[in-house]
Amino acid sequence: MYALADCNNFFASCERVFRPDLGGRPVIVLSNNDGCTVARSNEAKALGIKMGDPYFKIRDIVERNGVAVFSSNFALYGDMSRRVQEVLRAFSPSVEQYSIDEAFLDLSGMDDIDFDAFAKEVSRACRRLTGIPVSVGVAPTKTLAKIASKLCKQYPRLRGGCYMHRPQDIAKVLRRFPVEDVWGVGRKSARRLSQMNVRTAWDYTQLSEVLVRRTFALPGLRIWQELRGIPSIGFEDVIEPKQSICVSRSFAHEITESAILAEQVANFAVAAVDKLRKQGSLALEIVVFAMTNRFREDVPQTSAGICTVLPEATADHRAIVLAAVDACRRLFRHGFGYKKAGVVITRLVQAEGYTPSLFADGESALREARLSGAIDSINRSFGPGSILFAVQGDGHIAMAREHQSPHYTTLWEDLPKVKVK
Ligand SMILES: [Mg+2]
Repeated sequence: MYALADCNNFFASCERVFRPDLGGRPVIVLSNNDGCTVARSNEAKALGIKMGDPYFKIRDIVERNGVAVFSSNFALYGDMSRRVQEVLRAFSPSVEQYSIDEAFLDLSGMDDIDFDAFAKEVSRACRRLTGIPVSVGVAPTKTLAKIASKLCKQYPRLRGGCYMHRPQDIAKVLRRFPVEDVWGVGRKSARRLSQMNVRTAWDYTQLSEVLVRRTFALPGLRIWQELRGIPSIGFEDVIEPKQSICVSRSFAHEITESAILAEQVANFAVAAVDKLRKQGSLALEIVVFAMTNRFREDVPQTSAGICTVLPEATADHRAIVLAAVDACRRLFRHGFGYKKAGVVITRLVQAEGYTPSLFADGESALREARLSGAIDSINRSFGPGSILFAVQGDGHIAMAREHQSPHYTTLWEDLPKVKVK
């Protein structure tokens, strides 16, 4: 058996954890720069607010209904996600984090337990220990577990946990489950399926294996098998390290000064190095890019990128920040307003077992490694951004975040305060 634990309306739920006064009130979370809706509480969904709705278009509904609006607060969501994962790990030794708000649990070997009670217990533990409502579906395959978790959201009487295993129950659910909502069915396949008059997940399972293989190749066949209860999607509790790391943002206001753009690029570089170090890799190449606002026809346009090959594979903050800032200064041109920029570190190799070149300066590499290690441990003890390079400015990325909530769990000064009367 597999379990899927899916946090309900995750970002909106995170905002509510420290704001119990928002219980029952519609809550939405906006994307970077407060652009469009990326999360909605059930009450906000009921008002007809859709995923991806631009904020300016729904401002009316927001004001009329007292919707609580938040800018994205990824420090909070990342930390709450980590807490949920920690709770899940107590229930199974193999947990595969699938996204920021979803994780699969491998339940093999747990054959004689009451899976329905187990699912409800996992959900209750997450709620009690983190404050986040979580839907837990248990089924013989990952794809069916996903469907079971969706049932929990539809039916509150399931109390957050649903065990779906009897063939007749599965058939009943699949007959009402739209095929385009099945995990892994893309928009293109969905169109093709509708032409074939396949409406539900059940219809899909009734196609012949030959036809499925011919029309949708191996990925389609896997989904077909999974829906029929045959596990066909592997379990990856070890995450493969990424092959490149990109940190990029659009800015709230166009940037026209070289020093300010360099400040932003330095912040992106530090964020990228942090990710690089977390996965234990070294980088050989760094690309810095910046562009003007392509939606504005009234201003001159430019877009440029500079690729720098590093002398040695490295995960040192200083080496990568220096290379990024240098590239940024070279690509900057006066007279343009930069709207977006980014840093990509690429050609990654694993730090473990890496052999530096014959001419590498071992001693200075060691010093740099110690410096980066010190930066890591200071930021771990005192919160991210506690120590900065001067070129980072105040360490903030210039985004519109008018409605951002405090970093309740990652900054001392943002700790929630409790008043006792
Ligand atoms: Mg979710």
